[in-house]
Amino acid sequence: TAKRAGGHTYALFESRMNEGVQEQLALQHDLRHAVERNELLLHYQPKIDARLGRLQGVEALLRWQHPTRGMIGPNVFIPIAERFGLINGLGNWVIEESCRQMRVWADQGMLMSVAINLSVHQLRTEDLVHRIESALTRHRVMPSQLLCEITESVAMEDIKSTQRAFEELQRIGVYLSIDDFGTGYSSLSYLRQLPARQLKIDRSFVADIEVRPDARAIVGAVIQLAHQLGLRVVAEGVETEGQRDILLALQCDELQGYLLARPMPEAALGVWMSQQAVMVPSVPAPVGAPR
Ligand code: C2E
Ligand code: MG
Ligand code: MG
Ligand code: MG
Repeated sequence: TAKRAGGHTYALFESRMNEGVQEQLALQHDLRHAVERNELLLHYQPKIDARLGRLQGVEALLRWQHPTRGMIGPNVFIPIAERFGLINGLGNWVIEESCRQMRVWADQGMLMSVAINLSVHQLRTEDLVHRIESALTRHRVMPSQLLCEITESVAMEDIKSTQRAFEELQRIGVYLSIDDFGTGYSSLSYLRQLPARQLKIDRSFVADIEVRPDARAIVGAVIQLAHQLGLRVVAEGVETEGQRDILLALQCDELQGYLLARPMPEAALGVWMSQQAVMVPSVPAPVGAPR
C-alpha cells in the first residue's frame, strides 16, 4: 500500500541519515588524532600571472591521508572540523606547516608566496595574529610572503570579526584575499571596509564565462571595480584556453586552475617548476655575503 511504501521510504531515508551522522562521528573521532599522527598534508596549486605567465605564488590546500579511507578532501572534513571544534587545531597546523615550507624554499633560494585558507572560527580566535606572527618569526619568513584567504560569504557573515582580524594582520604585514567572490551577495561597500590585497573570482563564474554573456559581463565589471579599489584579481577554476583568453581580455591579473596546474605535493611542484621553467623570484643575497 501507499502507506507501507511511504513508511519504507522514510525508514530508508532515516537509515541513510543515520549513516551520515555515524560517518561524521567516526570521522571527527579520527580527525582529533590526525595532527599528532601526521596524517595531514598540504598540496600546493600555482597561481600564474595572466600576462607574463610567471608563477605568482601557490595556494596551500589541506589534505587528510586517512589510514584506512585514503585521501580525504577539505570539502569533507573542514565542515566536520568546524562543527566539532577542531578547526583551530587544523588551522594552526596549516600556519606552521606553510611557514616551514616557505623556509625550505627560501633555503633553496626561492622567495615563494603562499596563500592559506582561514576559517571564520580562526578569525574569532584572540591569538590568531600572534600565532601567525610567531610562526613567521620562528621560520624566518617575511610577512609579505604570506597571504590569508577568507571566503567572501564567511567574511560578510561576521564583518566585525573579519574587519578586526584583517586590520591586525595587515598591521603585521601579511596580505589578505577575499576568496570565492561573487557567491556571498555582499554589498560592495563592505568590500571597501576590508584592507584586502586580492580578490578571487569564484569558479562558478569562470565556468560560465565562455557560454554566458551575463557571467562574462559580471566578471568584467568585478575586475574593473576591484582594480579601482586597488585590488589584484585572481580567477579560480580556469580549465580551458577559451576561459583563459577571455580572462586575459578582461584584464584579470592572475589565473589558477587545472588548465595551468593541479594542486600537488611539494615534490611534484618542484618537478613542475623545473619543467615549466617558471621564474620564481630569488632570495636576495645578504649584504657582504660571499657569492
Ligand atoms: P578554495 O579555497 O576556493 O580552493 C580552491 C578549490 O578549487 C580547491 O579544492 C582546488 O583543488 C579546486 N580547484 C582548483 N582549480 C580547479 C579547476 O580548474 N577546476 C575545479 N573543478 N576545481 C579546481 P579543494 O582543495 O578540494 O579545497 C576545497 C575548499 O576547502 C577550498 O576552496 C577551501 O575553502 C577549503 N580549504 C582547503 N584547505 C583549507 C585549509 O587549510 N583551511 C580551511 N579553513 N579551509 C581549507
Ligand atoms: Mg582559497
Ligand atoms: Mg577559492
Ligand atoms: Mg572556491
